[in-house]
Order: sequence, then structure tokens, then C-alpha cells
Amino acid sequence: MHRTKKGMAAAPSETSVFDSLAPCLEWMESRLVEAYAGHIDAHHPADMPWWPAGYAQDRPGRVFEIAIGAVLTQNTNWRNVEKALANLARGQALDVEVIDALTDETLAEMIRPSGFYRIKTRRLKSLTAAWIEAGGYGVLAEMETRALRAWLLAIHGVGRETADDILLYGFERPVWVIDAYTRRLMERLGFARIAAMSYDVLAATLLAHTPVPTASSLARWHGLVVEHAKAYCRVRPMCEGCPLRERCEYGQRQVLG
Ligand code: SF4
Repeated sequence: MHRTKKGMAAAPSETSVFDSLAPCLEWMESRLVEAYAGHIDAHHPADMPWWPAGYAQDRPGRVFEIAIGAVLTQNTNWRNVEKALANLARGQALDVEVIDALTDETLAEMIRPSGFYRIKTRRLKSLTAAWIEAGGYGVLAEMETRALRAWLLAIHGVGRETADDILLYGFERPVWVIDAYTRRLMERLGFARIAAMSYDVLAATLLAHTPVPTASSLARWHGLVVEHAKAYCRVRPMCEGCPLRERCEYGQRQVLG
């Protein structure tokens, strides 16, 4: 981060962008934690920050519930996912074997609130069949992260973001989840070159520059980015009062312009 004549911290130039990334992430984390951690901690269990998974009673069930939620949340908001998960829970269907045995019609009806329910029915059936064929949670939990990610990506309907949601929040592996919020925030802060990277390169770049790249830290990071994108850095950003404005290229342009 370089400084202007008035001493104000300026957004990084493209040449220094990689040097600036780690300190900027460290600064951002402290600001975002200050702004949102109370909200996150108040609403989600300390051992699994931010991603909601409230029905399963044991770890294998919870990981499967997170995997189901990660598929259901594709192209919809979480409120609709909650309704679909509640239907599955009411029908005692948040279970690998039960979903595998359900007819497509019954499953589709249960997950209808999540939208695109016929497509998601096929995806859940594929995920469930692969889960059983692999040998279940115990076998999957023993897999090395790269192999587990490749296994997830080979399942019909599981893309990179969905796979990384499952890896991070379910299997507690240290990966960055990249979504549209992440790219938008990085671009506005002044990291346009990084924001334009392909998914895997961007995820690896952020991982390499994150001060504490543990699964729990990264789980909180994704939650912080999403909370910030909803609170301030929306499609039409609300820069006034934003906790990141001081070092945000876009936000500073609004001050100067
Ligand atoms: S200052 Fe504006 S553009 Fe920058 S992070 Fe905050 S809301 Fe987003």
C-alpha cells in the first residue's frame, strides 16, 4: 500500500499488486472481523462459523447436510434453501440412504422451494450415488484434499464453488471459496488483475497470501466477504460508512470525485 501526498493510504498499483495483497488481506480481515464477527458468532456455532447446518446430530450427517445445502444454494438465496432443507428434515430425508431411495418426484417436491428443483434433483441424486459408491463419509474424510476436490468435481452438477463450499465447511479443508462477491470486492479494492484470474488461480493466489490460511480462518473469511457484500459492497455499493473505504480504490474515487 503506497501513500499519497496527504498521507492517505492509496489503493495498490498493478505493479505492486502481489506485494500489497498479503498486508491488505491482513488489514481487511481485522476491519471485517470488527464489523461482522459479532453477527457471525451470534448466529453460528463456534466450531463451524457462518455456514448453517442445524439438523444433523453427528459429524457425518452434518457434512452431508452441508453438501446438500451447497447444491441447493446454487442460483438462489439461502432463505429458499432453508425451506427445502426443512422439508427434507420433516420427511426424515436428510440422509444419504434415504435420498438415494426416494423417487425423483418425491425429492423434487421436497426441494421445490430452492428453485430449479428438477435440475437440483438430478444433482442431489448424483451426489448421493457417488457418496455411497465411494464408501461414505469415513472414506471421503480420509482422502487428501486435492483428490477429494477432484472426486467432487467429477460429480454431475458440482462446480468449483460448490465443491469448495463442501470442502471448506463440510470437510474443513483450507480452501478459498471464490464467488461473485469475492471478485467484485477484490476489483473495487484495486486488485483488478487478481479479480480477473481464473477460479483456481485466484483461489490459490488468495490462499498463498492469507495471513492465517487455516480452515476455520478461511471459513470465517468467506462469511465475512458475503456479509460485507450484503451490507455495503452491493451491486450499487454503499461506500458511505464502509469499513474498507479508507483503502478502497473505488471508495476513494467517490470521495475525490
Ligand atoms: S468502499 Fe465502496 S466499493 Fe469499496 S469495499 Fe466499501 S462499499 Fe465496496
